[in-house]
Amino acid sequence: MTSKYKLLIDGEMVDGVSSFDVINPATAQPFARCPKADEKLLNHAVAAAKSAFSAWAATPVDQRAALVTALADRLEQRAEEFAALLTTEQGKPLNQAMFEIMGSVMTLRAFAAMRPEANILRDEGGNRVIEHRTPLGVVAAITPWNFPVILAMNKLGPALVTGNTMVLKPAPTTPLTTLLFGEICAQLLPRGVVNVICDQNDLGGLLSAHPDVAKLSFTGSTATGKKVMASAAAGLKRVTLELGGNDAAIVLDDVDTAVAARKVYDGAMANAGQICVAIKRAYVPEAIYDDFCDELARLAKETVVDDGSRQGAKIGPVQNAMQYDKVVALLADARERGTVLAGGEPLDRPGYFLPPTIVRDLDDDAPLVREEQFGPVLPVLKYRDIEDVIARANDSEYGLGGTVWGRDVARATEVAMRIDSGTVWVNQHLAIDPNIPFRGSKQSGIGGELGQAGLNEYTQAHVVNAVELEPVA
Ligand code: NAD
Repeated sequence: MTSKYKLLIDGEMVDGVSSFDVINPATAQPFARCPKADEKLLNHAVAAAKSAFSAWAATPVDQRAALVTALADRLEQRAEEFAALLTTEQGKPLNQAMFEIMGSVMTLRAFAAMRPEANILRDEGGNRVIEHRTPLGVVAAITPWNFPVILAMNKLGPALVTGNTMVLKPAPTTPLTTLLFGEICAQLLPRGVVNVICDQNDLGGLLSAHPDVAKLSFTGSTATGKKVMASAAAGLKRVTLELGGNDAAIVLDDVDTAVAARKVYDGAMANAGQICVAIKRAYVPEAIYDDFCDELARLAKETVVDDGSRQGAKIGPVQNAMQYDKVVALLADARERGTVLAGGEPLDRPGYFLPPTIVRDLDDDAPLVREEQFGPVLPVLKYRDIEDVIARANDSEYGLGGTVWGRDVARATEVAMRIDSGTVWVNQHLAIDPNIPFRGSKQSGIGGELGQAGLNEYTQAHVVNAVELEPVA
């Protein structure tokens, strides 16, 4: 069976060599077919991006940026169609899907307003040294299934504005919104500038290792990120790795329990917990621990879990069967080791539904505390001493995000300064902005995205150092 969705290769919307089912996680039933590429189509896509590169790199930057703005405008015009498809393939409630699409529009516009900046490093005594920013070539962009559209735009915006071409590969469980975006690219961009191919987790390695790919921009798990880095080594390709996290929320003792619990709850449960910077463990002072846990449990019990396309749904299903099984296993283990205050058992209905779950009384070495659960399950841990909690928060191989909650902002900020991660938010969560760089420390990544620094990652610093030609003495 062919798919109504098509790959984008060299400006043409084309069929794959075969197709595979895309599952709606709210029903666990297939609802569409996705075209699948093979090595030959992958090579064709890379060759198209390579041959489009020199003309695209030579296109004036304002013209490239105008085309990125045009992509944003077209995406905005079709926002409802994109949001509905995103909910069906990814599971998130429709309003959150719309938020992702409009965030993608905003991200493209923000990058269209940025420019690769030339820096005059010296201009004296006839010596002029300028650091220019030149494009790299073909960028391979590989994305995960939790935010398939906006994470692709975080890569596509800066890559295109700086003059690179791209082969984009979405995750196999959420490929369709990216293919739909490919349609917009086919309408607006010169052929070959953006290519979109799909796989069943079998082409990422080939794409990463392809000799004509200059840069790998990868968002996904730390385990896969390590493989991407290994395949980049042979060609010394540039890499940006946005990987997993196990973010701690540190609640200080001066908070209003109801206010802070609400914020921590939302930070843990949005997108059914499937956010790289979701709150994945919460540390609460002993004096307010019981009340805080009870408030979290109350919030969990009143949350509407439902098919994301149904009005009123606050939490949709987990995105895919593999992730569902992983979280179910973590839940089973947590039931043995700790006290489940709300949720805890998979919902008895079709689809990959898990209730928001609050677990207390776990040790720090419980798998639910140490691993990235990536589901709607929050372990809540007790602490007595601020030095001790900072050490426990930092005792992780990850260092992506984190939050500190306290009425005294200066004190909370001091604690935030000591959390070893790329971003720490104080009294807020998920304040991700296309103009503010975002990156992980430790095993949460290398390099970063967003902001001028994110734009620069798609460029090579190119220094031209000129002096007058002096007559030979
Ligand atoms: P994943 O690593 O399983 O897959 C990500 C992508 O890599 C998919 O497109 C997949 O097909 C591809 N892939 C698989 N094998 C590959 C290989 N050998 N070489 C190259 N690519 C390969 O991740 P996932 O389960 O889709 O996503 C969830 C993970 O992503 C979580 O760990 C989450 O924290 C992380 N994430 C990080 C950020 C961030 O900005 N740091 C953002 C979102 C998600």
